[in-house]
Amino acid sequence: MVVTFATEGAMGYRWPADTAFTRRVLTVEDESCSVCGRRLHVCDHRFHRIFTFEGPVEVVCKLAHCPVADCPAHARTLSPLAEAQLTLPRWVIGWDVFCWLGHRRFARHWSVPQLRAELGDSYDIALSADAIADYLRLYQTMVAARHQDTALLAETYRDIADLVLTIDGLQPEKGHETLYVVRELRAKRVWFAEALLSSGAEEVRRLVAKARQWAAQLGKPVALWMSDKQDAFLKAVAAEFPGVPHRYCQNHFLRDVAADVLAADSHAKVKMRSKVRGLRSVERQVLAAARAAPPAPVAAAEASAAPTPETAEIPAAAGVVLDYCAAVRGILNDDQGGPLQPPGLRMAEALTEVRASLQRNLDAKKGGARTSP
Ligand SMILES: [Zn+2]
Repeated sequence: MVVTFATEGAMGYRWPADTAFTRRVLTVEDESCSVCGRRLHVCDHRFHRIFTFEGPVEVVCKLAHCPVADCPAHARTLSPLAEAQLTLPRWVIGWDVFCWLGHRRFARHWSVPQLRAELGDSYDIALSADAIADYLRLYQTMVAARHQDTALLAETYRDIADLVLTIDGLQPEKGHETLYVVRELRAKRVWFAEALLSSGAEEVRRLVAKARQWAAQLGKPVALWMSDKQDAFLKAVAAEFPGVPHRYCQNHFLRDVAADVLAADSHAKVKMRSKVRGLRSVERQVLAAARAAPPAPVAAAEASAAPTPETAEIPAAAGVVLDYCAAVRGILNDDQGGPLQPPGLRMAEALTEVRASLQRNLDAKKGGARTSP
C-alpha cells in the first residue's frame, strides 16, 4: 500500500527543546550485500521522532550500503525494515497511538476534539486536529484494504451460498470523476470502489471482470446482478456473466419511475415560492411601525432593565406577524424528501395550514368585533 502523508510529518513537527526521548537504534537486517556479498557499511543515520504511549521515542535508523564502488547495489541505500514495526515514514506517532485513534474514533465514536483532548490530558501527546483527522483517514484506508484481504473475505462468505452483486456510479460533484462501487448484498459488503474519469464501456467492464475474479476466488456462484441498467453496466455484465440475471436496483427503479413526479413537484414548488413572497417587506413594515409607535409608559419605566431595542418595543400583535413570517420562510426553504415524500406536496400542505390558521385568527377577530358594541 502506498502511504503518503503530507500534514505535520515527522520533519515538520516541532518538539519542545526539553523533550526527553527514549532512543531506539535500528540497524539494517542484512549484514552483507545481496549482489556481491561484501559486508555492508553504515553510511548515514536517520532520526525519526514519534509519540508512543510509553513516551516520546527517537528512532535512530542506521542506513547502510555496499562499499564496493562498481557493485550495481552500491548506489542503493538500505534502511532498517524494523522501523515499520514502530511507525511509518513521516508519521509523528507510533502504531500504538495510531490504533488507539482509530479504535476510539470508529468503535467508540469519539470526536476529533475529544481525541485531541484525551491525548493531551492523559498522555501528554500534542497533536493538531488536522493531524488527527489525517491519521483517521489513513486508518480508514487501512481498514478498507483489510476488507479486501482474501482470507478474511473467504471467512465472511463461508456460510453464504451465492452472491448478489451491484454496481453503481456515484458522482459526488458534477463534472468530477465518478466513483464506481461494486457491492455484494448477501454479506452487505463493499467489494471495491474505483474513481473513473470516463464511464466508458471498457473501464466498466474491467470492474465487472474484477468482480468475476473475486467471485471465482471465493468459489461462489453469482445469482444476480443489480444496477440502474445503464448501457455500460448491461454490456459488461452480459459479457462477463453470461446467463446471470440483471435486475433493476429497487432504489434506481423507484427513482426512475418517480422522475416525472419529482419534476412536477419541483415545478409546483417554484410556483408556490413565486406566489408566497414579500415576507421581508412585511417584516420591515411591522418593525418600522413598532419603532414609530411611542413606547408604553410601563415599558419606559422598566427601561433600566436594559431590554434590547429590537424586541422590547415590539407589540404582541407584531410579534405574531413576525412568527408567521418565520414559519412561512421555514416552509418555503424545506427541500427534504424523496419521491415518496415529495417536498412540494408537503410545502402545499404546510402553506394550507398556515392559511387556515390565519383565517381562524381573522374569524376570531370578526367575532370579537361583533360581540362588542
Ligand atoms: Zn555489493
